[in-house]
Amino acid sequence: MSTIRLHDTLTGETRPLVPLRDDGVRVYSCGPTVYGPAHIGNFRSFLFADLLVRHLRWRGHSVRWVMNITDIDDKIIRGAAAAGIGIDELATRYLEGFLADADALRMTRPDVLPRATEHIEAMADLIGTLLEQGNAYRTDDGSIFFRIASWPAYGQLARLDPEQLRVGERVEADEYAKDDVRDFALWKGPKPGEPSWSTAIGDGRPGWHIECSAMSMAHLGASFDIHTGGIDLIFPHHEDEIAQSQAATGEPFVSTWLHCAHLQSSGTKMAKSTGNIARPGELFDAGVSPRALRYALLAVHYRASLNHSDDSLAAATAALARLDALVAALAAYREDGPDDPSVPAVLTDARATFGAALDDDLNISEALAAVFDLVRELNRRIDGRQLSTDDAARALELLRDLDQVLGVLPETGEALEPDLQALLDGRVAARAARDWAASDRLRDELLTRGIAVEDTRDGQRWRRLMEVSPG
Ligand SMILES: [Zn+2]
Repeated sequence: MSTIRLHDTLTGETRPLVPLRDDGVRVYSCGPTVYGPAHIGNFRSFLFADLLVRHLRWRGHSVRWVMNITDIDDKIIRGAAAAGIGIDELATRYLEGFLADADALRMTRPDVLPRATEHIEAMADLIGTLLEQGNAYRTDDGSIFFRIASWPAYGQLARLDPEQLRVGERVEADEYAKDDVRDFALWKGPKPGEPSWSTAIGDGRPGWHIECSAMSMAHLGASFDIHTGGIDLIFPHHEDEIAQSQAATGEPFVSTWLHCAHLQSSGTKMAKSTGNIARPGELFDAGVSPRALRYALLAVHYRASLNHSDDSLAAATAALARLDALVAALAAYREDGPDDPSVPAVLTDARATFGAALDDDLNISEALAAVFDLVRELNRRIDGRQLSTDDAARALELLRDLDQVLGVLPETGEALEPDLQALLDGRVAARAARDWAASDRLRDELLTRGIAVEDTRDGQRWRRLMEVSPG
């Protein structure tokens, strides 16, 4: 198996990935807070994790990928109150929207999407341990804070000077009666009008940071291989995750930290607070194809800042048009001549260059350069009739192979078994008749038979579910 090298934020080094266990690579990604639709800056971070997971699997690793869903926090409580609904209803609504966008963008579905409200007990247990060990303390209102003075390594990930610790947004919002301004809330005491859980550590609700420690431990164990997120999560969120996890377990938390740079728009970071956000659904409505948006968000190296613009979308659309044209040309190509003996080496070299680029800290620019070098070469051979029918089929097979990682090619023209096709046709008819119940029933039936159906601007699209390797 090839060696994959990744840039670890904590050490600042680019190091070979050596899985902690021999049964696969365990990956945790900070997921969405489901209080509104995610914007494409969020999706840049999720799609970079998708690229990582796809590449690991393409290289033969078994991967267990966990992405948390934050379904309890101040914004969700405010949003639910404003809408006059429960927090669970609000969170479920935006979780469904997130998954629809993720499917449209062909994001691999994580193996586990744990919801915070389903792990309250695990969080309380973890906080109980921190209290027992003196790493946490209670305040009069029933809240519990992490005592940063008990954790001298605090600030390593973000390279902070402990004496001049910058007070982050979430820290300020958490200020009650803390011993130290740097301390952060693990647990928030009950307040009128707020959801509250009764646990072994008392009534209240969890803080944000403890979620990711508890849920990663629940699904991946105390130590795991890779943790991903956007760079804005380094401090305080990931710094806090390290402190509370390692203080509780006494074991190293994460082997490799990967952080994705910001998505910029008009020269400033795309963020809800600055108002310059674009959401996938808005772009699709404006005629941007989901594939082009996926390509645009993936095509720049994850540690480089990416500027979202009409030009970047146009460039993505043009790149896909070249790929689509080649795929169509190869599929239609017929030439009875003998195989060209140089073709296997061309294909093998292209695959090796593509793989080596991604092994090098997911160098997508070089990987795409290898793809387009191959596109040029194949177009030249098609024009000169320098391929046999079999050569063309081999080339198409290679493009499909590389697309296991990229996820941008058009769907295959592969035929479905007749009984499955009949279910798909029935679903088209049900939707045309606006019979959503029948449409959903047929979608579920197809799903149980290994066919996932998405509704896109171009109509219904299906794909076979790939077997997920056990983690
Ligand atoms: Zn997190």
